[in-house]
Amino acid sequence: TRQIVLASRPHGTPTDENFRLETAAIPTLKSGQILVQNEVMSVDPYMRGRMNDAKSYIPPFQIDEPLEGTAVGTVIASESDSIKVGDHVSHMLGWREFSVVDDDAATVVDVEAASPSKYLGILGMPGLTAYVGLTEIAKFKKGDVVFVSGAAGAVGSAVGQIAKALGASKVIGSAGSAEKIARIKELGFDEAFNYKDGDVAESLTKAAPDGIDVYYDNVGGDHLQAAIGALRKYGRVAMCGAVSQYNNTEPEPGPNNLFLAVGKELNLRGFIVGNHYDLAEEFHKHAIEWLQDGTLQADETFRDGLENAPQAFIDLLGGANTGKMVVRL
Ligand code: NDP
Repeated sequence: TRQIVLASRPHGTPTDENFRLETAAIPTLKSGQILVQNEVMSVDPYMRGRMNDAKSYIPPFQIDEPLEGTAVGTVIASESDSIKVGDHVSHMLGWREFSVVDDDAATVVDVEAASPSKYLGILGMPGLTAYVGLTEIAKFKKGDVVFVSGAAGAVGSAVGQIAKALGASKVIGSAGSAEKIARIKELGFDEAFNYKDGDVAESLTKAAPDGIDVYYDNVGGDHLQAAIGALRKYGRVAMCGAVSQYNNTEPEPGPNNLFLAVGKELNLRGFIVGNHYDLAEEFHKHAIEWLQDGTLQADETFRDGLENAPQAFIDLLGGANTGKMVVRL
C-alpha cells in the first residue's frame, strides 16, 4: 500500500519535507481483522499537535511511521465475524490506501444514508464536537446569543447551524475570507465578520452590541479575549481549540482580560470529544434528520490523491477549506 509517514517534526508551519510517501507490504490478516480499501481520509487540525514530540491527550506520531487519522473505505477481505466484505467502515488508520484494522476498532457506516466523506465530518468526529461543545459544555439554552470562531470550518459551521436549529436568538460567526463570510450568512448565521478585516473585539461589538451568552472557541488568542469582553453575566465558553496558535513556535500572551470572568461569573470549560461519545447516538439521530430536511448543510472541500494529503493538511491550517477538508484516495 502507498502510505504517508512522518519524515521529520515541523518547526512552525509544516512543510513537504515533514512527510514522505512510501510503499509498504500489506500485512496478512489475522483472526478478527479486516482489510479496508480507503476511499476518503480526513485531515484535521489536531494532527498538528501529534506531529510534535509532546505529551498530550493523544500520543505523538512517530518518525518513519505512518500517520493516523479517520478514513472511510470498503472492506475487501475479512477474517472478522462481525464485519463482512463489501461493508463500508470508518476507522483511525488513514493516511494510507489500504489499512489492516482490528474489527473492534472499525465502525460500519451506512453509505445509503450519507456519502462516505460525511462520516469524516458532520456524521463523524467534527460534527459530534460541535454538538457536544454547544449543548453539553456551553450548556446552550434557547434564546442565547452565540458567537463561534472558525465559523466556516467543519466544526464551526455545524455549531452555528445547530445553534439556530435549537433556537438561538442570534448567531455570530467569524472567519478569514469574504467568500466564507458570504457562505455562512447563506447557512443562516445572523451576523458574520472577517477577522482579517479589523480588530476582533470591535467587529464583535458591532455584530453583538448587547453582548453574547455563549462563545464557542475554535481559535483562541484575540478571539477569546474579544469574547470574554463581550460575554454577559453567567456567560459560557466551550474551549474547543486554538487553531490560531498550533503553528506557533513560542507561546503567545494569553487574553489580558480574564479577570472579567470573576465579576461576570463566567464558565470557561475545555473538553475532548473522545470523552463524550455517549452523546453520539443522540446527535446522529438529529444530524441525519437535519441533513435530510435541509436544516443542516455540511460543506466539503475535496483534494484528490494520497500524495496530496500533506498539502491538504498544510492548507487546512492556512484556511483553504470551507467546511470539512477531505482527501479522496
Ligand atoms: P476547520 O475546518 O475549522 O479548519 C481549520 C480552520 O482554522 C481553517 O479553515 C482556518 O479558517 C482557521 N484558521 C487557521 N488559522 C487561523 C487563525 N490564525 N485565526 C483564526 N482562524 C484560523 O477545522 P475543524 O473544524 O476540524 O476544527 C476546528 C477547531 O476545533 C480546531 O481548533 C480543532 O483543533 C478543534 N477541535 C477540537 C476537538 C476537541 O475535542 N476539543 C475535536 C475536533 C476539533 P479561516 O479561513 O477562517 O482562518
